[in-house]
Amino acid sequence: MTTLDSLVFSPVHKVGVLGGGQLGRMMGLAGIPLGLEFVFLDPSSDACATAAGDLVQADFSDEQAARELSALVDVVTFDFENVPAATARALQENCLVYPSPDALGAGQDRLAEKELLTSLGIEVAPYHVVSSRTDLLAGLEKVGYPAVLKTRRLGYDGKGQAVLRDQEDLERAWQKLGDFDLVLEAFVPFQAECSLVAVRGLDGEIRTWPLARNVHSNGILVLSMPGAFDEALQSLATRKMKALLEHFDYRGVLTIEFFLADGKLLANEFAPRVHNSGHWSIDGAVCSQFENHVRAVASMPLGETSMTGHSVMFNWIGEMPDRERAMKIPGLHWHDYGKSPRPGRKIGHATLTASGEDELKRNAGRLAEIAGGEFPRLLGQLFD
Ligand code: AMP
Repeated sequence: MTTLDSLVFSPVHKVGVLGGGQLGRMMGLAGIPLGLEFVFLDPSSDACATAAGDLVQADFSDEQAARELSALVDVVTFDFENVPAATARALQENCLVYPSPDALGAGQDRLAEKELLTSLGIEVAPYHVVSSRTDLLAGLEKVGYPAVLKTRRLGYDGKGQAVLRDQEDLERAWQKLGDFDLVLEAFVPFQAECSLVAVRGLDGEIRTWPLARNVHSNGILVLSMPGAFDEALQSLATRKMKALLEHFDYRGVLTIEFFLADGKLLANEFAPRVHNSGHWSIDGAVCSQFENHVRAVASMPLGETSMTGHSVMFNWIGEMPDRERAMKIPGLHWHDYGKSPRPGRKIGHATLTASGEDELKRNAGRLAEIAGGEFPRLLGQLFD
């Protein structure tokens, strides 16, 4: 009789991905050289991942379509954390799904996420559940101004949240968000933001990439640079990561975003998937987050996660700078997702690699000048 355990060791040829965005595309681009084929499920007919595989065009809540996808592949994963956990769970009846749909579900509700992190000893900023205006006022008593009011579900990249600095902000935010289930967090006066991307493989082996220092603008990641912190912080973040990975008996890549404040790491959120702050690893690590995710879900041995030199990633949001000028910079690696430009949309990124820090800083300055806008100022924050 075939059991799920014996299936774990059978060779995987086809990987199904719920979601066909740039993360799926980069998974496909990393997995094709390993001999794998990909099928993506996405509502959009021009999902950009289709450059790397076939498409089942359907809504994420369409369990029937998801079952059709699972019949075509050996294992299913996801590139998008708002795929309904119910869809992923339904697939588990007849196919392997990695990471566990429980991890997907836990990351979809900011309250459940904070409760889980706290129960595992992973510290988060003080918070308060808000279902009414009275709760909000009680929450403000507890965490004080400034605070951040966030929707519990479907918020990402700074969407569905508001910073409250005074009574006026409170009234405005309540008008906008009052109909949703909410959570109020203390505003963390962080020295830096960082994220740990890690992978857990078939035999429970865990590997982490170097902690990346991140700079956001309007809640969206703009710059990310690995290797900017010391060993002590890396070990602290790794201990927190290990607790979360083991809790879920996790398989694949998982990311925790942290605030660094007064030497402490406070978890902001986790993402049960490859992450924007790990894109540098395609060009700057021995094995990228995409390749290792695919290796993990396809039951292959994991690759080395160390940096091959110094690197920094620039995110292209809404528009891309002059490619020809940028590509003249030594160590420039260009990634165009093939998506049509739209304000606020992630349409590509570039990673600069260099053998030394000075060279990286100099070339990053040149790229920031070419990209213009906020880039020169934000780059200053990264190298402060
Ligand atoms: P999120 O959607 O929770 O990832 O938040 C997006 C960005 O908003 C974060 O990366 C921070 O730059 C900022 N942010 C969110 N929550 C807080 C907080 N409690 N304190 C300070 N900044 C925050």
